[in-house]
Amino acid sequence: MVTEDQDAVVVGGSIAGLLAARILADRNTFVTIVDTDELPLQPTARKGVPQSVQPHVLFTKGYRILESLFPGISADLNAAGALTIDWPREFHNFSRGEWSNNASAASDIVSVTCSRPLIEWAIRRRLKDFPNVRFVEAHRVTGLLASSNHITGVRLQPLSGEGLNELPASLVVDASGRRSNAPQWLENLGFTPPPETVVNPFLGYATRRYQEPPGFEADWKVMLISHEPPHGTRLGYLARIEGGQWIATLGGYGRDFPPLDNDGFLAFAQTLPSPKFYEAIALATPVSPIYAHRATANRLRHYEKVKLPQGFVALGDAVCALCPVYGQGMTVSALSALVLRDWLNQSKRPSRLLPNSDSKPALNAGKLLPSRFQKSLATSNSLHWGMATGQDSRFLTTAGRSEPGWLMGVLGWYTERLLLSATQDASLHTLFVEVVHLLKSPLALYHPKIVLHVLATDVRTLHQSKSSLP
Ligand SMILES: Cc1cc2nc3c(=O)[nH]c(=O)nc-3n(C[C@H](O)[C@H](O)[C@H](O)COP(=O)(O)OP(=O)(O)OC[C@H]3O[C@@H](n4cnc5c(N)ncnc54)[C@H](O)[C@@H]3O)c2cc1C
Repeated sequence: MVTEDQDAVVVGGSIAGLLAARILADRNTFVTIVDTDELPLQPTARKGVPQSVQPHVLFTKGYRILESLFPGISADLNAAGALTIDWPREFHNFSRGEWSNNASAASDIVSVTCSRPLIEWAIRRRLKDFPNVRFVEAHRVTGLLASSNHITGVRLQPLSGEGLNELPASLVVDASGRRSNAPQWLENLGFTPPPETVVNPFLGYATRRYQEPPGFEADWKVMLISHEPPHGTRLGYLARIEGGQWIATLGGYGRDFPPLDNDGFLAFAQTLPSPKFYEAIALATPVSPIYAHRATANRLRHYEKVKLPQGFVALGDAVCALCPVYGQGMTVSALSALVLRDWLNQSKRPSRLLPNSDSKPALNAGKLLPSRFQKSLATSNSLHWGMATGQDSRFLTTAGRSEPGWLMGVLGWYTERLLLSATQDASLHTLFVEVVHLLKSPLALYHPKIVLHVLATDVRTLHQSKSSLP
């Protein structure tokens, strides 16, 4: 017999919510995912995720976690048109005036390049196979239900005027994204809302889809012409995706927003420090309008610092929304799901079984401390937050920026040398890619062998550039 106290509700059916639901589905519980949108049957953009039309890099770490949670999902993505990308070989990065020196041999640092709606659709489709997971679509969560210190469910507003008004639950997971109202819901119940830290680089994106020119051939699948703080505000990102299309994005920091009309878009592309992005799109046919996105601030809600009611946790962008240019969000959500799994595993009580539940452990939300989850999540998020805000702080126009101390100054100087050396040396480019894709700790960049290697490459480059002077 299923009892009410075994139910979990996930607010938000995007990447973080779907992956949290996948973890919860391994417990002896029914999981209900509530979303304001009607979730599309095809991989199409939707209103509740306005960033759907923007480019989404899936890091190898995130890709591997997806595959571990949904074995075979990479094959699903490929079958739907996603292209496998070998990052050290097929990601071409223009930085510090040079293109990366790409690896020539194949590596296992792979993931897929495709549209964001395709990734979300593939996960959603797999989750629908779980008998204890259901979706409540076109319903907005408007608040939390509580009995003293325990959350007992959510309040709902059906968007069509008909539907459910309340859902009981012993665990509510807020995964409603960077515009989450959960702090307000908690405050309405008398709890202190989490304090927030915001670091806003005022980065704007303009994105357009193109049809690849017939017979097009290239050795890249993704190219990035990087911004270069503190003065180089502009960037260009071009990725080959499903359906023979390209997704082309221009970005500008410090309110240097790219224009949204055809001529302005092309003119902005021509100002990038390499002509390769412009030359590629000039050959291709635009197949979409130009979409802007300017809600790109880094926003951290410190749930780990407040007292939370029993039966409520938050994760994904609702806790840690990052400036998108570093491509971390979906992978950080995947890592959050693993933190959730570890937290749930702390519950030792023997399981009460759902019919045919194959001995799944019980949810036992009443026994678990939300603050413990939020603390572990804060630790897991801290590296990614530090990376994004540290880089964004190098633009003097960033609001909420922190002034780098002397150590950060030295590390910044070294990172510049490393990036320059990576344009000369394929092994350094590969190492850099491994760190960015969260496969290796950033400490790997500071190993004495690597430091010597970087400095030696730097001296060689300096020598070559001097000897080539007239
Ligand atoms: C411009 C841009 C580009 C990005 N590029 C990348 C990238 O290259 N790589 C990467 O990994 N990440 C990228 N990200 C980040 C990525 O989109 C998110 O980190 C990822 O989607 C996880 O977010 P989420 O699931 O927490 O929230 P969201 O994706 O924002 O989803 C929130 C969900 O909650 C629902 N919802 C909201 N409120 C309610 C409510 N009250 N009731 C019910 N449902 C509700 C919404 O409909 C939506 O489905 C980018 C983000 C932006 C803005």
